[in-house]
Amino acid sequence: MVLYPKGLTDVDRPLWDAAVAVLTTSYRTGRHEVAAAVRCTDGSIVTGLHLQGTAGRSSVCAEGVALGAVLVGQQDRHPGAPLDELVDTVLAVLHRPTPDGALLRIVAPCGVCRELLADHCPQAHGYVHLPDGTPSPVQLVEQDAPGIHGAPYLAAGRAQRVQVGELLPGSTRRAW
Ligand SMILES: [Zn+2]
Repeated sequence: MVLYPKGLTDVDRPLWDAAVAVLTTSYRTGRHEVAAAVRCTDGSIVTGLHLQGTAGRSSVCAEGVALGAVLVGQQDRHPGAPLDELVDTVLAVLHRPTPDGALLRIVAPCGVCRELLADHCPQAHGYVHLPDGTPSPVQLVEQDAPGIHGAPYLAAGRAQRVQVGELLPGSTRRAW
């Protein structure tokens, strides 16, 4: 049985599944620790993987990678369409080994991603993680190395669905 974070809506469970699937195969400690899944307005799901760089600002978040992939992947069906017409929901999942075991949890967009999302698709929805309670085990399909091993724990807390524009209250929408 696969467990999902509290607060994650049933309709958004495939986003969790898609992001965890990416981490299951592609997680690398210190290199690729966050995966993002975007549900497009046509119902398709596009994923992205975080790229850690030696210099902090050279790192690229999974959300940005996924948004670029949405634009590329939707060109055939929606040529030239901007992200605010293409993106419905963005979900990012963090996998991080800890002394108590490997944890999986939804991770809220960082400050840079909040700016990016507010610029490109402020009407889209995303998730933040509210820490609380106790961890519970997550059962994952066994995979060969590298990626995630064993049965990581779902981090304590609950997910909260939010409109991404609300993550930057008071910001003015960019006029392109
Ligand atoms: Zn970010």
